[in-house]
Amino acid sequence: MAERFNVVVIGGGPGGYAAAIRCAQKGASVALVEKDEMGGTCLNRGCIPSKALLGSVHFMTLARHAKLMGVEVGQITPNWTAMQKRKDAIVAGFRSGVSGLLRSNKVKVFEGRGIVPAAGQVRVDGPDGGSTVACDKIILATGSAPIQIGAFPYDGQTIISSTEALSLPAVPASMVIIGGGVIGCEMACVYAAMGCTVTIVEALPQVLPTEDDWVGALMAKELKKLGITCLTGGKVTGVDTSDQGAVVHVESHADIPAEKVLVAVGRRACCDSETVQALGLDMNGPVVKVNRRMETSAPGVYAIGDLVGTTYLAHGAFAEAEVAAANATGGNEEMQDYSLIPRAVYTFPEVASVGKNEKACAAERRQVVVGSAPFRTNGRSVCHNENVGEVRVIRDKATDRVVGVTMVGAVVTEMTAAARALLGSREPIERVCFAHPTVSEVLKEAWEDAFGISLHVPPRR
Ligand code: NAD
Repeated sequence: MAERFNVVVIGGGPGGYAAAIRCAQKGASVALVEKDEMGGTCLNRGCIPSKALLGSVHFMTLARHAKLMGVEVGQITPNWTAMQKRKDAIVAGFRSGVSGLLRSNKVKVFEGRGIVPAAGQVRVDGPDGGSTVACDKIILATGSAPIQIGAFPYDGQTIISSTEALSLPAVPASMVIIGGGVIGCEMACVYAAMGCTVTIVEALPQVLPTEDDWVGALMAKELKKLGITCLTGGKVTGVDTSDQGAVVHVESHADIPAEKVLVAVGRRACCDSETVQALGLDMNGPVVKVNRRMETSAPGVYAIGDLVGTTYLAHGAFAEAEVAAANATGGNEEMQDYSLIPRAVYTFPEVASVGKNEKACAAERRQVVVGSAPFRTNGRSVCHNENVGEVRVIRDKATDRVVGVTMVGAVVTEMTAAARALLGSREPIERVCFAHPTVSEVLKEAWEDAFGISLHVPPRR
């Protein structure tokens, strides 16, 4: 007889492993099926390895500014091989940490591809053949993969995705990055710091096009300081490759030669077609359709994370995992407003936002007041020589409530939870005492400015 579980989770990324652990903590018997390495894209090919490399080059940049800080150091010599080793060790450590957590929560892990041939059943096609388990509930968390463009498909050598870009054996002399979104800008910071000549080609009029115009303009200015060329409003039409590298063709622009071409034009959900067909799942284009309880159209089957195409963020998947796990174990929860899930970009400087930005408010025809405060007048930021950028707080005039915060600056990704706390009415925040001097005081200044009561920002006429 098939082994039986209360819940089977398919996919061991942030969505999947979080859902599995939460279900187990709520008393369910749980199995998790993973065909690759535990931790998914975030841990193995995304958030963590990219932040490890960004951490190394950030340290190098700080060291290069040592003299300005009154510290004499010898020659700064980056060692890409050592950075790669460090990154791999960090990833391996967290990977075994996740496996250990699953073990200690008594989640049974099956290695192989998980397929749902019918409700209440999961078949595992593993290295030792196939087996089938029975279950009451299923949570699908099979993630996403980089989008491939037909006119310039990946060859893994010259035309690469973010997966290869994280592990190149050597720093190329030059790189064209197609797509000035999150991955494009983050990887540009890594390779430019390592001495590679980087050109970002972005089809839309600004880099980081989902953020407000001022963010794109400020980011382009800062990327330029790092030696990165940003070509915006430039659609790549094709890439020719040869033994010498590549030539990138851009609409209405001269060809750009490069040793490597990184294509970073978004990600696409990985839906198992056999499962989709067998369950007759309703789809929203390439993603699985779910309701606010993370239920698919098949009873007892939930879907979360990149597979449902909501945020394409690890912490978005964590939030959805909580909801799916609660509902799969007898609870009744709904996903919160997605705009409250923060966005965080780990560039130099960083970008972070939560709630609605100015573009979204304009699209909704909201009358807003935008308060702002720069880091250049913040004591801690100036002392740390990290004073680029600003914080903007958006107040809806009709309701007098803060509806969004956008931040560009050195450590702003660490301030997303504090920024989230500013959303809503002014009373709870007014009495909050910020330690001085701290970087987060900029948040308070911008918030006060949005209400016309700033202490340090001169009044507007
Ligand atoms: P993205 O959607 O952020 O950016 C892709 C960009 O490519 C867009 O700006 C688009 O206009 C542009 N583009 C598309 N086709 C083009 C063409 N032919 N020529 C020029 N430009 C073109 O996608 P991404 O950067 O690949 O990231 C993938 C996903 O992973 C995103 O959803 C992102 O949120 C997520 N991610 C998040 C983080 C983070 O939160 N720090 C880091 C990495 C990735």
